[in-house]
Amino acid sequence: MKPPDPRALNPNLEFGRGIIAEASKSWGDYLLVTTPEVLKSAGKMLLKKPGRIFFVTTMDLPVIEKAASELPPADTIVGIGGGMAMDLAKFFAWKKGMEPVLAPSAASVDAPVCLSVAVRDQHKVKYLGYSLARVILCDFELMQTAPANINRAGIGDLLSIHTALFDWKLASERGKSEYLQESAKGTAKLVDELEEMSGEIRAVSEKGLKWLMEAYAGENAICVKTGNSRPEEGSEHFLAYNVEYHTRRSYVHGELVCLGVLLMAGLQENNVSRVHKILNQTQVKYQPEELRISKPELEYCLLSLKQYAEKENLPYSIINAKTINEKTVGKICRDLNF
Ligand SMILES: [Zn+2]
Repeated sequence: MKPPDPRALNPNLEFGRGIIAEASKSWGDYLLVTTPEVLKSAGKMLLKKPGRIFFVTTMDLPVIEKAASELPPADTIVGIGGGMAMDLAKFFAWKKGMEPVLAPSAASVDAPVCLSVAVRDQHKVKYLGYSLARVILCDFELMQTAPANINRAGIGDLLSIHTALFDWKLASERGKSEYLQESAKGTAKLVDELEEMSGEIRAVSEKGLKWLMEAYAGENAICVKTGNSRPEEGSEHFLAYNVEYHTRRSYVHGELVCLGVLLMAGLQENNVSRVHKILNQTQVKYQPEELRISKPELEYCLLSLKQYAEKENLPYSIINAKTINEKTVGKICRDLNF
């Protein structure tokens, strides 16, 4: 494996208020990848207007492949928005051999600091490509205009460490995966910090937003060094993927992952009260009622989870190790609101 680019371990994050406005002057004739909603707040921050705007509606692979092939030339590719805008800007930049400028509209996903691009292929998540951001502009002015629940959902991909590490250790004990103590220690520390920062995150303060973005960068660096995402991704994500696959609806990623962490921590019998505490202190949305997932849907996704994980050849986790029957489902779902 060739050594990773230093920026893959230490992305170029910039923090401040009004930094998008200043930066836009240096983008030349640029392509902006965003959504109409984000453009409402971000548009007035752009001192230099884009040459072309591309509104992201999907990450469906055939659709975005076609869009990429039809793009006019641009001096800079800029993504401003949530996960999809980040990923599509990364995808276009990768296809054009360029480095995108990314400005997340909320601290809701780790897409800005991840190298690979999350796309959808036949309703399934697939990671491909290699896209390093020239700079990631974390403009608090923009991020704080997003609904509070979107920023709070940023904890999902960090709280996921709680269940992911359990799964990783379990897999190594069963000879299914190599467990790297150093990596596990590194991401476990992020969960401790998350617990301390939960008040700031609930308040969507600058301090909380900055911590979230830096925590993603730190987590991503650990995954790059480890060579896989086991330090932060396990059964909680697998459940989330099955929910998306089965219901064919899209969710705020972090909220769905939070529900996954709670349920899989229950299955793992792994300090569920700590998960509850962090969910409550940050006031992130995770209840099926808030996520509009019905009881039969969730029950089905849990009962079919082992089959799904096997079919998708997902890494070994608690899902493979435990029987998930109606009794188990009843037990782990007992505190949920539908
Ligand atoms: Zn995730």
